[in-house]
Amino acid sequence: MSDTMHPDSPAEGTMTDQQQQQPEPPADESGQSPEVADAAPASRLTELASGHTSAPTEGRETVFALDDVTVSYNGIPAIRNVNLNIHRNLVTAFIGPSGCGKTTLLRSFNRLNDLIPGAAVDGTITYHGYDLNGDDVDPVEVRRRIGMVFQRPNPFPKSIYDNVAFGPRLHGMKDDLDARVERALTHAALWDEVKDRLKQSGLSLSGGQQQRLCIARALAVEPDVLLMDEPASALDPISTQAIEDLTESLKQEYTIVIVTHNMQQAARVADVTAFYSVDVAEGGGRCGVLVEHGPTSELFIRPSDPRTEAYVTGRFG
Ligand code: ADP
Repeated sequence: MSDTMHPDSPAEGTMTDQQQQQPEPPADESGQSPEVADAAPASRLTELASGHTSAPTEGRETVFALDDVTVSYNGIPAIRNVNLNIHRNLVTAFIGPSGCGKTTLLRSFNRLNDLIPGAAVDGTITYHGYDLNGDDVDPVEVRRRIGMVFQRPNPFPKSIYDNVAFGPRLHGMKDDLDARVERALTHAALWDEVKDRLKQSGLSLSGGQQQRLCIARALAVEPDVLLMDEPASALDPISTQAIEDLTESLKQEYTIVIVTHNMQQAARVADVTAFYSVDVAEGGGRCGVLVEHGPTSELFIRPSDPRTEAYVTGRFG
């Protein structure tokens, strides 16, 4: 973690507010609204979840530790009192109904909420033991180490090469740039498809390829963590499968936190799952809460809270 302090305004060429704050997603390529949680039969979820170990975190380093974290907009909590650890080289999925604060919480893992007017994070988030929101912490360096991929692919209007080289150039990682670009594209399972057209615009790629390009862009600056906010919700089933396969292989090197509305996807890719819900106060105020988290094989098969059980069995009202 760097000691230097930079202003919060994005440095030249970092993601702009507009790129950070994605508009509401469109219906996906199958025409289904991405906000509709998939209604997979509970037996299918159980089958998928049972493919994961029941003790994934055993002996693993803690990457993030959240202690009583509340994120508010204009003084009104959107998600409150979250206590949660994220472990190294695992995929942790955040699931729960729309509006329960999954994205809001995810954005606090790399200080993107700093860029949202009115947003405030209370409580403590440590990253490898450092206070992520400490005064001596450089948010630009935080976002290099903790990369993020958004719901809708957002390549820059630049060549494929320049998209991937962008972060390394910004961070002064210019040694052997060609090899770095190739490595990132290879890690993102895109190299073979684009190696002969690196000078073409990133926008000329298909939606699924654009999303893998965005993953390559994040990987090119050698992050430690990859945050993925519904990375496949705007993609067709084949591209979704490619992203899921990629997630599985990337966890060998990176720690991954993925927000998904798709329970089958969580059951397939996640080692650990956290379920969030919305508490409705007497006055009608709504606020997200973490209901439970644990090994995916436990959460889907033996949930400990009736709200989780209702959600994963499709009886959520
Ligand atoms: P989820 O990802 O679970 O769908 P979000 O984190 O997007 O939930 O939203 C949680 C709550 O915070 C919602 O009530 C939403 O309207 C509110 N919210 C999200 N982003 C902003 C923002 N930029 N400004 C104000 N309120 C927001």
